[in-house]
Amino acid sequence: MKLTQPRVKNPELMLRIPGPDRKRNLAAYTYRVTYRAPDPRAVGCVTTWEVGGGRLPYQVALERTEAGVLQWHCSCADAVYRGERLQHYHCKHVAGLMDCLPPLD
Ligand SMILES: [Zn+2]
Repeated sequence: MKLTQPRVKNPELMLRIPGPDRKRNLAAYTYRVTYRAPDPRAVGCVTTWEVGGGRLPYQVALERTEAGVLQWHCSCADAVYRGERLQHYHCKHVAGLMDCLPPLD
């Protein structure tokens, strides 16, 4: 996989999703595109984002598998622990982003 960083038109997005506090009040998170594949239909990493605004910065990645299926990944603890046990589980960082992207195929 080549990790060049082509220029992107809208590299940053601001979303309000449940925040890191115990009450899960909505908080502003920024999503910055850090990588976008030159060919989004190719197998491998399609796009990566750096998510700021939570306790820690997180990495969200969208990957196209060999079978052509799109798979989301997030580096947060929720995605790592629950994603391991529950198929098709999406953490709040991924779910928030999925809500504002056009349908992907
Ligand atoms: Zn996450």
